[in-house]
Amino acid sequence: MIELTTFFATDERIRVYRPGLCAEQGRCVLYWMQRAQRGQENQALNAAISLGNALSLPVVVAFVIADYPGANLRHYQFMLEGVAQAARHLAKRGTPLVIRRGEPPREIVTLAHELQSAAVISDEGELRTPRRWRQRVTEQIDIPFACVDADVVVPSKFFPKEEWAARTIRPKLQRLLPTYLQPIADLETLHPLNSPPCDPGNVADPQSYLDSLQIDRSVAPSPIYRGGQDEGKRLLRRFIAKRLSTYETQRNLPELAGTSELSAYLHFGQLSVQQMAWEIEQHVPEATGSAQIDITGGRAAYLEELIVRRELAVNFALRNPNYDTLAGCPTWGQETLRKHQNDPRPWLYTREELEQARTHDELWNASQREMMVTGRMHGYMRMYWAKKILEWSASAEEAFGHAVYLNDRYELDGRDANGYTGIAWAIGGKHDRPWPPERPIFGLIRYMTLSGMQRKMDTRLYIYKWSKATLDRA
Ligand SMILES: Cc1cc2nc3c(=O)[nH]c(=O)nc-3n(C[C@H](O)[C@H](O)[C@H](O)COP(=O)(O)OP(=O)(O)OC[C@H]3O[C@@H](n4cnc5c(N)ncnc54)[C@H](O)[C@@H]3O)c2cc1C
Repeated sequence: MIELTTFFATDERIRVYRPGLCAEQGRCVLYWMQRAQRGQENQALNAAISLGNALSLPVVVAFVIADYPGANLRHYQFMLEGVAQAARHLAKRGTPLVIRRGEPPREIVTLAHELQSAAVISDEGELRTPRRWRQRVTEQIDIPFACVDADVVVPSKFFPKEEWAARTIRPKLQRLLPTYLQPIADLETLHPLNSPPCDPGNVADPQSYLDSLQIDRSVAPSPIYRGGQDEGKRLLRRFIAKRLSTYETQRNLPELAGTSELSAYLHFGQLSVQQMAWEIEQHVPEATGSAQIDITGGRAAYLEELIVRRELAVNFALRNPNYDTLAGCPTWGQETLRKHQNDPRPWLYTREELEQARTHDELWNASQREMMVTGRMHGYMRMYWAKKILEWSASAEEAFGHAVYLNDRYELDGRDANGYTGIAWAIGGKHDRPWPPERPIFGLIRYMTLSGMQRKMDTRLYIYKWSKATLDRA
C-alpha cells in the first residue's frame, strides 16, 4: 500500500492536492499532461513513472484539448504540433498518450474512473484558469492527486509571498540553485504499454481537433515558428552555438536576431526550463584556432532572464490575484498614474487603430506588424510598445487592457505570467522603482522615447524589415 504524501515526502517539487492510499485495485497511474507538454525531460511524467514502478503499474498520459480563454488558431496550431511530437516521444517510452476534447477537470475525472487509475499526477500552472482546473479535479476525484512544479527551476513553494523585485528574489534563487539546477534524466517505466486500455483519441493527428474548436480563426499560424520539443531543442542548440556569446551585447538590438526566440516553447511547456538552464550553465564553447570564445557575460545575462526574471513573473502570477490588471501594480505606480489621469494626451488611439498599426509612429507600427505577422515581437521593442500604449490611451486602465488584449491575441507566447508582468512593469511600475523627474501622463513611471530608441538601435533597418511594403513583397 502506498500513501501519496509519504511516497513523495522528500520531493519539494510535488504538492499533494488530495492525499490518500493509491487504489489497490488500480490498473495504471494517470499523468494529466497540462502545462508541461513534452514527452522528454519532464519531471511530472517522471514522478508518475516512479509511482507506477513502485505500484507495479503502467502509466497512461492524458491531454485534454480545452477551449482556453483568448487562445486562437495561431496558438492551437503551435500547441497541437507540440502534442503530436509528445505523442511520439511518449509512445517510445511505453507511456501512451490519450487525447480528450472538452473541459479538463471533467475529462480527467471521467478518464481516471474509466482506466481505474490508482492515482493522478499532473504538473503545475500559475495562471488563474489552470489553477481552477486543478482545484476542481481535487474536489471531484476520489483517488490521490498530486502536481509537480515542472516548469520552473526552483520550486515556487519556496517563495510563499509576493516578491517586491528582482533584487529580492535573486539571492533566494541563488541559494537554492545548486540543489535544483540539475539535469533531468528520463526515468524508465518497468511496465510499458504499447497502447492505452481505452480509446486513445486521434493521437496520430492531433491537428484534426482544430475543426471542432470554437476559436477565432482570423489570426493565422506563425509562418516562422513550428511547435514541438525537437524544434525547441534545435533552436536552443542554434542559440548556444551562434548567439550566446554575443547575447549580453546584442539582446537589446531588435533589428538583429540576437536572442533565443524560445519563449513560446517555454510557454507551452515544450521545453523544460530546468534542462535548458542546465545546458547553458554547463556549456563549454569549442576553441576556434587558438582563441576561446568567451561566453561568461552572455551566460550570466541569459540565466538572469531565464531564471530570475521568469521566476519573478511566475511568483507575481501565483501570489497576486490581480496580475492581469492595473490593480496588481504597486501603490506608488497606481498613485502617480492617477495624479496624471487628466493630463492632456497629444495622441489618442482606439484599440482598432493600434491593432491595425495606424499610429503616427512608424517604429511602433513596425513592432505591431512584427507581432501580428510572426507571432513574436522582440523583447526590447515590447517595452517601448507597451509604454507608448500608455501614452496614447485615455487612461492607464484602458492602456493595460489594450496591451493585454493585443499581446495575448498575437504573441505565440501570450497568456503567460511573463506577459502580464511585462505589461505591469511597462505601464504600472511593477518590479521597478519611481523614475523622477515627474512627466506628463507617466508621472514617475519609467519613460521611453523615440529619440532614445534611435540612439540605441538602427530603427531604420527595423522599420524597413517590418514595413507594410516589405511584408507585401515577401
Ligand atoms: C510589454 C511586454 C510584454 C511581454 N509579453 C510576454 C509574453 O506574452 N510572454 C513571454 O514569455 N514573455 C513576454 N515578455 C517578456 C520578454 O519580452 C519575452 O519573454 C522575450 O522577449 C522572449 O523572447 P526570447 O525567447 O528570444 O527571449 P530571450 O532574451 O532569449 O530570453 C530567454 C527567456 O528568458 C525569459 N525572459 C526574457 N525576458 C524576460 C522578461 N523581461 N521577463 C520574464 N522572462 C523573461 C523568457 O522565458 C525567454 O524566452 C514581455 C515583456 C514586455 C515588456
